[in-house]
Amino acid sequence: MVHYRMTATLFVAPGLIQSPDTPDREYMTWDEVRAAASYGMEIGSHTLTHPHLAQLSYREIEYQLRESKRVLEEETGRTVQEFSWPYAFPEHRRRTVLNVETALRACGYRGGVTTKVGSARVQSDPFFWPRLPVNTYDDRGLFSIKLSGGYDWIGKVQSMKKCLVQFVISSRDDEQARKMTPTRG
Ligand SMILES: [Zn+2]
Repeated sequence: MVHYRMTATLFVAPGLIQSPDTPDREYMTWDEVRAAASYGMEIGSHTLTHPHLAQLSYREIEYQLRESKRVLEEETGRTVQEFSWPYAFPEHRRRTVLNVETALRACGYRGGVTTKVGSARVQSDPFFWPRLPVNTYDDRGLFSIKLSGGYDWIGKVQSMKKCLVQFVISSRDDEQARKMTPTRG
């Protein structure tokens, strides 16, 4: 990317940073993160320890966002303003989404990205931008299809699927709740 004078945003979870002598190392070291920043890459937060945010309380979510930002800024000397949601974006868990948005604002973030597939538009929520996956299997044709919106329908299917799963889970829970309610005879 440096060769082509391109930049990117690296979303880092500081709790997963490893030391250079870790055997079979999987994650970046602080020196590697600092080197990327020095090449013009923006550093964003990917939470502190990569938890499932839907399982956390508001206080725990805010801690993940605030502490990851603080540590990343301390280690890189750069301002951290962007956030990337770990795991699949639970768009139908409205309380979680609202808690994360409130915490992002409270901690001074400017925006964030999700695993929702699609192109971002002017009207997209800047805290929950969709993204397009790009990998080495993409040839020039497929890449240009992605860029011209050819993959945006996937986001709608993802959304419908999550909606359906949520509906099945909540009807199952209602059914269980009915069974567990003692009937008065
Ligand atoms: Zn992740």
